[in-house]
Amino acid sequence: MVDKHKIEQAVKLLLEGIGEDPNREGLKETPARIGRMYEEIFRGMDQDASEHLSKTFSVENSEMVLERDIVFYSTCEHHLLPFYGKAHVAYVPDGKVVGLSKLARTVEVYAARPQIQEQMTGQIADAIMEHLAPKGVMVMLEAEHMCMTMRGVKKPGSKTMTVAVRGCFAKDEMLQNRFWQMIKG
Ligand code: ZN
Repeated sequence: MVDKHKIEQAVKLLLEGIGEDPNREGLKETPARIGRMYEEIFRGMDQDASEHLSKTFSVENSEMVLERDIVFYSTCEHHLLPFYGKAHVAYVPDGKVVGLSKLARTVEVYAARPQIQEQMTGQIADAIMEHLAPKGVMVMLEAEHMCMTMRGVKKPGSKTMTVAVRGCFAKDEMLQNRFWQMIKG
């Protein structure tokens, strides 16, 4: 559970730390506001991807299923600044599938935590492997990191791309190529 009271105290200290007066009018409500906001943007701390991936449907075919352009917002754990972009999630079913919205929900569970993009990519792939037990999974994330664009090297528009492959995708280059083709169009 997110401890809003702790967050409020921390934000007050943080404001003092940068030389602000946390009691001035514009800032008075800020600690409480951030407490509520953090509860929302870190809601994934209390969630488990299995909630979304456990309800499955039987299918005959075992063709690739791809959900592309899943927009996500996450928070970089090194700077507590946003990184955001799109996730593309594909799997080859082994007798069962999940509703398409569940793939987006799974992305959300892992986005709504302090994150590293590489780690998040792997966590999504692993959760699908574990709970849906498909023949294989491939996940690609492309994101812009505010810690790269508003500070440090300041490279607006630059994107970080990360990939995770599991199961049959790891061995099948043609399948991987099909994934790249399908997310391009
Ligand atoms: Zn960062």
